[in-house]
Amino acid sequence: MYYVSTRNKQLEFTPAQAISQGLSREGGLFLPAALPRLPGHALENLKNMSYQQRAVYIMGLYLTHFTTSELTAYTAKAYGPEKFDTRAVAPVHKVDGKTYCLELWHGPTCAFKDMALQMLPYLLTASMRKNYDNRTVCVLVATSGDTGKAAMEGFRDVDQTKILTFYPKDGVSEVQALQMKTQEGENVGVCSVVGNFDDVQTGVKQLFSDEALRAQLEENHIFLSSANSINWGRVLPQIVYYVSAYCDLLRDGEIANGDAINVCVPTGNFGNILAAYYAREMGVPIAKLICASNSNNVLTDFLRTGTYDKNRTFFHTVSPSMDILISSNLERLLYALSGGDDRCVAGYMEQLAGTGSYTVDEDIRKKLTALFDAGYADEEATKSAIGRLWTEHRYLIDTHTAVAFHVLEEYRARTGDETPTVVASTASPFKFCDAVLDAIGVEERAQGAALLDQLAEATGVAVPRPLAGLREKTVRFDGWVQKEQMKAVVTGFLK
Ligand SMILES: *Cc1c(COP(=O)(O)O)cnc(C)c1O
Repeated sequence: MYYVSTRNKQLEFTPAQAISQGLSREGGLFLPAALPRLPGHALENLKNMSYQQRAVYIMGLYLTHFTTSELTAYTAKAYGPEKFDTRAVAPVHKVDGKTYCLELWHGPTCAFKDMALQMLPYLLTASMRKNYDNRTVCVLVATSGDTGKAAMEGFRDVDQTKILTFYPKDGVSEVQALQMKTQEGENVGVCSVVGNFDDVQTGVKQLFSDEALRAQLEENHIFLSSANSINWGRVLPQIVYYVSAYCDLLRDGEIANGDAINVCVPTGNFGNILAAYYAREMGVPIAKLICASNSNNVLTDFLRTGTYDKNRTFFHTVSPSMDILISSNLERLLYALSGGDDRCVAGYMEQLAGTGSYTVDEDIRKKLTALFDAGYADEEATKSAIGRLWTEHRYLIDTHTAVAFHVLEEYRARTGDETPTVVASTASPFKFCDAVLDAIGVEERAQGAALLDQLAEATGVAVPRPLAGLREKTVRFDGWVQKEQMKAVVTGFLK
């Protein structure tokens, strides 16, 4: 299987080239030239397998230049018991007769980013070997909170790699900031930037297209790569858990083979829900893809009207990992829905860069509304969803997951659609203690890491191990810079 860019499908890349390069030179994103389809009995066969085995099978369909024994080794390490606190890896929790929660936060940083970022370092270093490339890769990350931490956990002390993470100084939760400031590993660097996530992401994109910087690093045998969800190596492992969730429901007799499910995903960069779309295209019987946003509801408007417009107020919300106005991965969906029209995608992206908005043609708009439903939750709705899930089901969810639950309830009320639905649960509630405590009615608030105990005491739910350990950790990275200084931070880090 070969990969092409969303903005130029003339050139073909191997999976290893697509993964190690991250972003195509003309700014497009890599994706498979054609999507693989699951053979007829695949879901039945997969239902009795472990998560790791399912991952080997699904990823193998896309990574045709990798052997089964390579993929088996990577999945064993990435999703093994030292990394995940449950053998199921991504368990499905039954909330009620028609609602299932796919828990994607049992990994080392307690957010769904671990699902991809535990795997990416193996895919990336193997890709470099396959390309006979012995340079050092420097991974640059722009994070709205969870990606950076998960990437650093994945890459820490991996040979021939370095990783530098930038995050918005006032755009992440206390626990998230503490997780990053205390990051361990000899090859890691962390720096906060004054501004919001989009500023940081734009800054990192500029570094990637800085030819002078590229040349300077090249002299030292270093090249820049990305761990953001624009890298195909991030999207691919995420497809696995949607297939896996369907298999779990089959295995547990909740559905019969062929029964449709809906999927409801809290998303910002459109990465997680894009993976669900790919699972659907592969043949998993997913009816509706329900896209859940917070007050930064640029995707809700886009999916309803066909006009993407980032010219709007930016909100800092209690679900900060979705505080995003430029959803990079949408570009891959546009490529698919335009029938692989790279000129058309490049045109929309030029308009987005120039004016901050674009409107898709009628044909794409029709496909969007057929596939997707969309909604958003403001701050109050988010908190009341946490409260409701806790009081009615004794199920504790984080703020991002709560956005999805609210949107699902609103969707059901509006459409009457009772299809069994899998809600993607993207973080442990302990990553967002402050907002969660508030939502379940605890008014007096502790500070810093003591918040963890407070939430545990209030609910009787145990603090996940990786977060409980934060208290003993030393702060290693306390600095912040203006966004103009980001390039200097990179050159300093790589000296
Ligand atoms: C990153 C993140 C999201 C959004 O993921 P997308 O890649 O933007 O779809 C949602 N919830 C949490 C907790 C996250 O860390």
